[in-house]
Amino acid sequence: MDERWDVVVVGAGPAGCAAAALLAARGRRVLLLDRGPVPHPRLCTHAIMPAGLPVLAAMGVLDEVEAAGAQRWWGVRLSVNGVRLEAPLPHGWCEYPYGLSLRRHLLDPILLGAVRRHPVAEVRLGWCAEALLGHDGTVTGVRARGLDGETRRIGARLVVAADGRRSRLARLARLPERLLPNRHTALIAYLDGVPREERPRLEGFYDRGRSASMLPADAGLRVAGVMVSPERWPRAEWGERMLAELCRYPGLRERLRHARLVTRPVPVRGLRNVLRRTTRPGFAAIGDAATQTDPAFGQGISWALRAGNRLAEAAHAALAAGDGPVTLPPRIAWEPVFLPLFFGISLLSAVPPGSLLEQAIMASAAGSPLTVPMLRLALGLAVRPRPAPALSTAAAWLRGAFAP
Ligand SMILES: Cc1cc2nc3c(=O)[nH]c(=O)nc-3n(C[C@H](O)[C@H](O)[C@H](O)COP(=O)(O)OP(=O)(O)OC[C@H]3O[C@@H](n4cnc5c(N)ncnc54)[C@H](O)[C@@H]3O)c2cc1C
Repeated sequence: MDERWDVVVVGAGPAGCAAAALLAARGRRVLLLDRGPVPHPRLCTHAIMPAGLPVLAAMGVLDEVEAAGAQRWWGVRLSVNGVRLEAPLPHGWCEYPYGLSLRRHLLDPILLGAVRRHPVAEVRLGWCAEALLGHDGTVTGVRARGLDGETRRIGARLVVAADGRRSRLARLARLPERLLPNRHTALIAYLDGVPREERPRLEGFYDRGRSASMLPADAGLRVAGVMVSPERWPRAEWGERMLAELCRYPGLRERLRHARLVTRPVPVRGLRNVLRRTTRPGFAAIGDAATQTDPAFGQGISWALRAGNRLAEAAHAALAAGDGPVTLPPRIAWEPVFLPLFFGISLLSAVPPGSLLEQAIMASAAGSPLTVPMLRLALGLAVRPRPAPALSTAAAWLRGAFAP
């Protein structure tokens, strides 16, 4: 080996930065590698659930994130076939009764700063992890290549794959996985000129087979998403068509009177729901490398942060217990509340958009008194730090029945 560390973390997104910062805060020697510069362009609508905020606080960056202009949001508002449903965040379930939204080119450098402030941590950008090193199924390090072509063999007692949605390391580690379909496709773009609200919500719109969303962002912007198959519209007309489509929904025509798109619409498609077993001896995957869901449900960043936090706690204890490669519990990246949410989201995203089934589900949701409590429960699942016993039992059953 050319060098040795306690832990090598590959990927400087929310998962990798949380793991690296919180391990370094415990005195562990951590090397954080990323193949790109930070920030680099990344497709994300960046709504951070309240459950992610305690991790930002533990990393020491919550105030900085807010000072950078993060927009607070306070729940979900749906318009379904003209019926308006308001689901504020449940009180008392989490330390923070609001979520945040900050564009990734602002958020990611702050997260990286949380790692850099620890003298025991080193950050190397422009280094791509190409291979896992090890023997007999145990991972003992990574081989990484720098931008200048230099290759280094980096030894560590634990290699953490936080390398995102197309994780090369999870593939190399041959982690068993379960893939579930996601039939949602969309165009997304930023809007300016939408009147500000005192307590903005994440907004979803559904009208007999068509759907759209509008999420608050920093700098008074909104991220708009229109659920269409991008191929249906000529590329040159995407912007114009998106605005026209949004204006179809009740109340939006008036609110969008002075709105304009400030970025080109970007197509989103082909994102599956993925669940991976997350560890091998000397190796663990966290964040999107371990679990991915339809981004329309806005869970990825907070799960990534929380997985980084869980990993740091468990790895610190395991590193203290011996001196060889560290083996963590097989599903370190998942929390008990995670599986019910994952399967709920997977079921919803498997329904073909615009289908009769979807229309029937949405029509019954619009007319049902149970919809708002269910929505609040779902938000509660997303925000609640510790699950109720019944949820733990349901999660244990799901784990036994479906987990890879
Ligand atoms: C359209 C869209 C909208 C979304 N909207 C939301 C939302 O509103 N709310 C939300 O919470 N989530 C959202 N997400 C999901 C969210 O972006 C991810 O869940 C989150 O970024 C996962 O964090 P991560 O740290 O696991 O991975 P990433 O943020 O993807 O970071 C992975 C890092 O690994 C690096 N890397 C990859 N391979 C290597 C390698 N071989 N060597 C070195 N470095 C490597 C990459 O350069 C990258 O910096 C959205 C995603 C999409 C696609």
